[in-house]
Amino acid sequence: MINKEEIVKDFPILDRKVNGKKLVYFDNAATTQKPLSVINAISDYYKIYNANPHRGAHTLSVEATEAYEQTRNKVAKFINARSEQEIIFTKNTTEALNLVAYSYVNNNLTSDDEITICITEHHSNLIPWQQIAIRKGAKINYMYVDSDGILSVDEIKNKITDKTKVVCIAHVTNTFGIVNPVEEIVSIAHEKGAIVVIDGAQSTPHMKIDVQKLDADFFAFSGHKMLAPMGVGVLYGKKELLKNMTPFLYGGDMIEYVSEQTTTFAELPFKFEAGTQNVEAVVGLSSAIDYIEKIGYEYIEEQERELTEYALEKLNQIDDVIIYGSKNIENKVGVISFNVKDVHPHDTATILDRYGIAIRSGHHCAQPFMKHLDLNSTCRISFYFYNTKEEIDIFIDAIKKVRGHMGYGTK
Ligand code: PMP
Repeated sequence: MINKEEIVKDFPILDRKVNGKKLVYFDNAATTQKPLSVINAISDYYKIYNANPHRGAHTLSVEATEAYEQTRNKVAKFINARSEQEIIFTKNTTEALNLVAYSYVNNNLTSDDEITICITEHHSNLIPWQQIAIRKGAKINYMYVDSDGILSVDEIKNKITDKTKVVCIAHVTNTFGIVNPVEEIVSIAHEKGAIVVIDGAQSTPHMKIDVQKLDADFFAFSGHKMLAPMGVGVLYGKKELLKNMTPFLYGGDMIEYVSEQTTTFAELPFKFEAGTQNVEAVVGLSSAIDYIEKIGYEYIEEQERELTEYALEKLNQIDDVIIYGSKNIENKVGVISFNVKDVHPHDTATILDRYGIAIRSGHHCAQPFMKHLDLNSTCRISFYFYNTKEEIDIFIDAIKKVRGHMGYGTK
């Protein structure tokens, strides 16, 4: 039996005060907080074995290399990749997706081809494809969702055509937290001979990922959204695809042999990791995976489901609150988008901050989706397993006061 109070104590920042109030951190989709074990792992790295990996013959460099490569191995097992050669460390999800865009799609797309993406995509999983499409004179085919943010199988079948070469889709959307039918998308895309790139930035923190079961060709995620530090992300790719791809960045540590006029490149995965890597973040990622595996995805999912159900029920009772997106808890992670009637989301977020509550407001890096829904911006709360119902109560009390702060009456 996992004790929630003990869990909360693992996160020192949750004990701090903001504007004289205890912090309520509901911006986990932007980045999660870090447990002491992760903070200590980074500090130990600098105190005990900081060195540049893969380069030195000395003990510190060997230890740093071991920590770095053992994490690669751990990540491969964590997402059930066939081999650690399929795991490339990047800076974040954004860099991982750009790597696929420039090293694979750029070399395999013609002006007759199409890239299919969903209108809900985060800009990180939209602009790279858009820019490659512009460069190649190819077309971007958008799959549209209904007003709840749900993507239908008919729409998927209509938009993945014989011309589609690449399908790019978020596993979970960052705006409404909707879990997309990625296995169905992969199967339809593969029937048409297209490859599938899954943006796992919002799914990996919340659910067990099995890239073999998903049959994803590429899968990207960020460490910082799952307890690890900023500055490390992961690109998983099927080995047969990665093997034939050109490097994304050129420089030290990714070469086999360099002569004056030509270069041959290192084996996988090193040909994609040019220059000194973010070892402290990789060490932190290793510790973050240990933490997640210790508490387990079952606990994470159960906590988030309870919190989301509770928050939706409480928010639903407030007439002045408009909730966006599907409320079907079976198909959703702990992300709720909403607005307080007549109040700009930035005002709502600023007022909540006075109560120590951190939420996100804006277009959530999804401007085409906002436009599709005829929305300008929304407020977004997003939970992680360390949040509590008591924090939701504090949030609900504060939300009821927002219109009053703006000089409106409450209905
Ligand atoms: N995709 C989705 C769905 C996201 O939510 C985010 C982060 N908000 C990203 C991609 C980009 O992640 P990062 O900034 O870590 O590269």
